[in-house]
Order: sequence, then structure tokens, then C-alpha cells
Amino acid sequence: MKIVVIGAGPVGLCTATALRQEGHSVTVLERRRDTQPLGHALVIQPAAVRALQYLKGAEESFSRVSVDAGALQWWSYRDTKPFATPVPAETLSRAERRFQTDRPSVQKLLHELAVANGAELLFGRAVQGVQDFGAKPTLWTTKGEKFTADLIVAADGIKSATRKILFPAQDVDPIPLRESIFLTSAPISQLAQDHRIAPWLEPGTKHGILGPDRFVLSRPMHGGLLGVQFIDVNHADPGPVDGNWNTPADIGLLRTRFSDFNVTTRAFLEHIQHAEKWQMATGAELGTWRSASGRIVLLGDAAHAMLPHAAQGLSQGIEDALSLARMLRWASKSGGNGVDIPVVTKAWVNLRKPRADLFMKQSTSNANIWSLPDGPEQEARDGRIRRMATRPPPNLDGVEMDMAADRNSPQFLKWARDYDVVLEGERAMEKVL
Ligand SMILES: Cc1cc2nc3c(=O)[nH]c(=O)nc-3n(C[C@H](O)[C@H](O)[C@H](O)COP(=O)(O)OP(=O)(O)OC[C@H]3O[C@@H](n4cnc5c(N)ncnc54)[C@H](O)[C@@H]3O)c2cc1C
Repeated sequence: MKIVVIGAGPVGLCTATALRQEGHSVTVLERRRDTQPLGHALVIQPAAVRALQYLKGAEESFSRVSVDAGALQWWSYRDTKPFATPVPAETLSRAERRFQTDRPSVQKLLHELAVANGAELLFGRAVQGVQDFGAKPTLWTTKGEKFTADLIVAADGIKSATRKILFPAQDVDPIPLRESIFLTSAPISQLAQDHRIAPWLEPGTKHGILGPDRFVLSRPMHGGLLGVQFIDVNHADPGPVDGNWNTPADIGLLRTRFSDFNVTTRAFLEHIQHAEKWQMATGAELGTWRSASGRIVLLGDAAHAMLPHAAQGLSQGIEDALSLARMLRWASKSGGNGVDIPVVTKAWVNLRKPRADLFMKQSTSNANIWSLPDGPEQEARDGRIRRMATRPPPNLDGVEMDMAADRNSPQFLKWARDYDVVLEGERAMEKVL
């Protein structure tokens, strides 16, 4: 099949590689002049790690840019030591295996994989229009070039223009929020000179510091850096979503905003001269991720942009990519013994959308839970975190998956973490036939 992917972000590049490995001809159109290696720490969750096992070369590349940061240690913003330290697992089960990496490294490695697998990457090509014409959807760029394909995959991010073109009668703009995240980092070698920061530098640890309206996440990143994110869920009235990831922040204001946090947090803020501000937004709720013909689909942030607080944004994009590539095995060009592409994309949306929708909701709810004001609700939350930290991760062998079960139940954890999206895609296609 001839497939055109819009956007060379991590999800577009992952999709392109997965489709190439299935033998399709793939062209990626990216409006920027090069890949954009911006961003900060991110986690690839266990089910996405499992999906990446279907992508040749990914396991080794992701391992190379991942760090060992253990499970989160939890602090109150006023305390000088954690109130909950999870029991370290003796061996990591499949459902606990994550890549703790960062967006610039992931962007770079997925770019290399797409090139090595023979995807055609065309930079400086901003897609301007998309037409959903029967069996041959078409798009064109601002340079006037026209592309026709069997399938168009739009991975054009939270501000997806394709989404607006596909659903002209709906308001599908991203929803801006009051929340801002400030992204900072500093060399661990420099921070090690300051004993006040020592707890955050203990090897194999990462930290979450919870305060009213705000929380802080700290962990080592590839390249000898400590990455620290300052989350202010009630920062300011939202402006328009600009999609920028690198608006310089006012360090003085950041220090003032977190001046009631513990000494480790304040000491870290003394060491940095630069922070990037990210104005948060979430994707609008969509009825579907495919066009009327079923030959144009949205995936990644274009389909399900979510807050980062379930650490699932990119993981869901990876699951989208690997399942779509595998399910397309059931589509034949001629219609012969296989099914038509729209039948596959329908089954794919039915499989993927409920799962991504649930993580979108979970990420918003986590932001509220982690920024509760001091009081009984906050005390109850800390009690829950303490109890969960002392328990070893549940053994999920033989547990039945249930996405509707309680969030902390083994059934839900099985569905969230021990899920094989490629296998589920195959099962979904077998049901269709
Ligand atoms: C602070 C923070 C922490 C995060 N942490 C995690 C985490 O721990 N785990 C996790 O899984 N996720 C995390 N995420 C989310 C993750 O970074 C995103 O989900 C991911 O980058 C989305 O990838 P994408 O390829 O869909 O979109 P993008 O990265 O936005 O890429 C879209 C691409 O499309 C291009 N494009 C747009 N319009 C056009 C056009 N008209 N023509 C051609 N090209 C176009 C853009 O230039 C861009 O290159 C985090 C996000 C934030 C903000």
C-alpha cells in the first residue's frame, strides 16, 4: 500500500517505521525543516514497551537512552524527607518494565529508525489541505505538491489541522487550561556539590513533591542531567494554545511561586538559570478518529492529546502505531481475500479509542489528586499513597483484564500494564472476518 504520514513527531516516525516493516511504501511530510528534538523526561509505559517489541531495532535503541530511576518516592512540600518510599521489586515483571527516557532522545532515535527502514521523509512540507475522495484520499502542501495514497495517517499533533478538516461541523480545537509546566534540568555533577539536593541525587531514585495547587517531579535523565518539572495547575488564565514547548520562563517568578516548598526544591531552583514554560491543553473529545471514507485516520496527540500526568501520551501513540500497522495485514489492495482498508480502520478505532479516552481522563484526574489543598482530602490521599508504596506490585499472572475495574485493582492494572495491543488488534480483526 502507499501510505502518507503527516507529521514527523515521535508518533509519526514510529508509525512510518512500523508500516515500512510491514512492507508498505511510506512518505512522511513534516512542516518543520528538521526533526524537533525538544521536550523533557518521559516514560514509555509497560504496554507500550511490549508493543515496541514488535518493532525491529526499537528495544535496543530505547534501552540505550533510558535510565534506571526506580519507582516514585513521595514527599509533602513541607517535609525534608519522603513520606512514602516504594519497596523495590527484586525482579521487574513484564508489567513493570518501563523505558524512563526523554523526548529529545526518543525523537532522535525514532528518526534514525524511520530512515534506516526506508521511509521517505520530506521536511519543509506543511500540509494545507486533505480531501477524502473515495478509495484515493489526496492531500497537498503549501508548496503546491499533491500526494495521493491508499491511506493517510495524520500524526500532526495537538493542533492537528487534519482534525479540523475532517470534522468541520465540530469544535475540535484543543482546550487550553490554567495549568503550566516549567521544564528545567541541571548537570548532576554540579548539583552534587550542594548537600541540600543530595536526596534527589541518590542513584536509582525519582521523586514527587506534592503541595497545594502545585507539585514537582524530579528524576535523572540520559546525559548526566537531573530533570525537574514544576507543575502549577492554577497558574494563569489560559491564552491560545501555541503548541510551543520552549517559551522561556521567568526564573524569579518560578522561585517565588515555589518558595513555600522544602529546602531541596528551593536549593535546586538556585542552581538553574533557565526554564521552559509549557502552557497545558488537552484534546477535544472526538466521536471518531477516522474520516467518512475510512481512509484518513488521526493518531497520537492529533487524536488524543492528554495531560502528562498519567505518563501515557506517547505510550498511547506507540500503541496506535504498532496496532494499526499489524491490523493492516488484513487489508488487501485488490479486495481479494482480505478486507478493505476502511474495515480495518473501523476495527482499529473501536479497539484504540476507548483505551486512549480512559487514559485522557486519568491524566486530568491525577493532576487534581496531586495538587490537593492541605486538609482531610490531602491527608487521605497521602495515606493511600503510603499504603500502596508498602505493598509489592501485584502478581498479574492469570488475572482477567478489566478496564472498568477499580484503578488500583489487579484487573485494571492487568489491562493498563500487561496489555498486548498487537495481539488485541489481531483478535479484533479475527472477529471482523
Ligand atoms: C511535560 C510533558 C511530559 C510528558 N511526559 C510523557 C510521558 O512521561 N510519557 C508519555 O508517553 N508521554 C508524555 N508526554 C506526551 C508526549 O510528549 C506527546 O504525547 C508526544 O510528543 C506526541 O507525539 P506526536 O507525534 O503525536 O505529536 P507531536 O510531537 O506534536 O508531533 C507532531 C508533528 O507534526 C508536525 N505537523 C503539525 N502540523 C503539520 C502540517 N500541517 N504539516 C506537516 N507537519 C505538521 C509538527 O511539526 C510535529 O513535528 C509528555 C508531554 C508533556 C507536555
